[in-house]
Amino acid sequence: MKKIHNYINGSLKSLSNDELAVEDPSTGETIGKVVLSSEEDFKEAIESSKASQVEWSNTTPLKRSRILSNYKNLIEENLEDLAKIVSQEHGKTLDDAKGSITRGLEVVEFACGIPHLLKGEFSQNVGSNIDSWSIRQPLGVCAGITPFNFPAMVPMWMYPIAIACGNTFILKPSEKDPSCSIKLAQLFTEAGLPNGVFNVVQGDKKIVDLILRNSEISSVSFVGSTPVAKYIYEEAAKFGKRVQALGGAKNHLVVMPDANLNQAVDGIIGAGYGSAGERCMAISVAVAVGDIADELVEKIHVEAQNLKVAPWTDPESDMGPVISKEHKEKIEDYITLGVKEGAKLIEDGRNYKIQGYENGYFLGPTLFDNVTKEMTIYKEEIFGPVVSVIRAKDYDEALKLVNNHKYGNGTSIYTSDGEISRHFTTNSKIGMVGVNVPIPVPMAFHSFGGWKQSLFGDHSVHGMEGVHFYTKLKTITARWPKSIQSGPEFVLPTN
Ligand code: NAD
Repeated sequence: MKKIHNYINGSLKSLSNDELAVEDPSTGETIGKVVLSSEEDFKEAIESSKASQVEWSNTTPLKRSRILSNYKNLIEENLEDLAKIVSQEHGKTLDDAKGSITRGLEVVEFACGIPHLLKGEFSQNVGSNIDSWSIRQPLGVCAGITPFNFPAMVPMWMYPIAIACGNTFILKPSEKDPSCSIKLAQLFTEAGLPNGVFNVVQGDKKIVDLILRNSEISSVSFVGSTPVAKYIYEEAAKFGKRVQALGGAKNHLVVMPDANLNQAVDGIIGAGYGSAGERCMAISVAVAVGDIADELVEKIHVEAQNLKVAPWTDPESDMGPVISKEHKEKIEDYITLGVKEGAKLIEDGRNYKIQGYENGYFLGPTLFDNVTKEMTIYKEEIFGPVVSVIRAKDYDEALKLVNNHKYGNGTSIYTSDGEISRHFTTNSKIGMVGVNVPIPVPMAFHSFGGWKQSLFGDHSVHGMEGVHFYTKLKTITARWPKSIQSGPEFVLPTN
């Protein structure tokens, strides 16, 4: 059986004997064992990251950029293989896996521009014959802790920029689908990255705690569920680290009565059920405004019934299984609770069986109508193929729903009214907002991040936010001896 090790200093290696099963969610079979890092493993990773950091930070940004450029080419050449690794351990369709890797690749493309991105500011004559300029310097050793749902894309939101900025990086991927991170690290070595600049340590909470408390690590980037994000934020800050911790979501898509209904329905279907709802930008709430609700629910229902739920090996598959047996049961419990709390179950995805894949973790698309804001299925993140329709009498009520929810990751409005759309983008208390697009995921050269309980910290990921997160600002003020005036100055210069 395949073993998934750490990748430290350019080699696959584990000193520990602790293992955890890695499953194929389509079959429920164990397909590998991930070796959980021990303290000794972690020590090696830290030493290797530290040892390579100074030389790497002294490598010119242009040379770093050339290595990133080789890396970009290698990811493109290996796209199919990488996507298969993602699909097999995660369960998402092959096309969706390819799409997610491409979104990660775009961050590598962005990071190739690092010589330009690191340019500082310069002012001549801030005082008489005095110049001042700013530079951005790397933090040192950075760490990233990532979730199961995007085993390639989410790590790629972090390490290409951190490394481009001159840091070394330790990645702790999800223990549920750990193989892709190893392939990504090996390709980076092949691209010319010196050993130790990018290390991968496998494990669960134990290794996370070692990362959070280690004094050699300067920053922690985290993406995962909100309770863990909050813990990471507080704990890492306690140990003096710079931290960005992205959490869960409950994204609302508001459908106005003047919306193009078919487009809105397509948006809800793709963003609600794509990747079996296991996306932090999934649409889990459709807010039907005014008299559009009955028609909207009926159309979503028809389309949901037509979706093909199948393993990733079936090219016709629209959505695959969820990640694990426990997660499937948790989602089924939410559906049961939704019924108990009075929501109208229009389409029930429980007890979904696919011939030949009876032990897979499949659920059918599920649709609730008449959901209210008091219900648990509305308040909590389900992270599965469950769409809740909530009815609002007008736009103001819809906006209140969006703004009063504890999560603030993404939202979208479907309308043909420019004024409403402008009001929505200005006044929604959400980090990423779409107009007539279902998943407003910013491109690599913008930044990704939510508000409220969806992000703890001051920086979003990638784009210039990423460059700023992974660098320290230094401002230098200089004058040259011949211009120095005689005698000390006892008041602050105000030139
Ligand atoms: P998770 O929080 O269970 O795990 C994320 C990472 O934290 C993993 O590497 C895991 O090993 C580690 N971890 C888990 N429990 C821990 C603990 N108690 N202490 C320390 N470390 C711990 O999340 P998940 O189930 O892997 O991923 C799904 C969640 O991630 C969803 O809530 C989803 O919304 C969120 N997510 C958010 C974004 C975003 O951009 N905001 C993106 C993707 C996923």
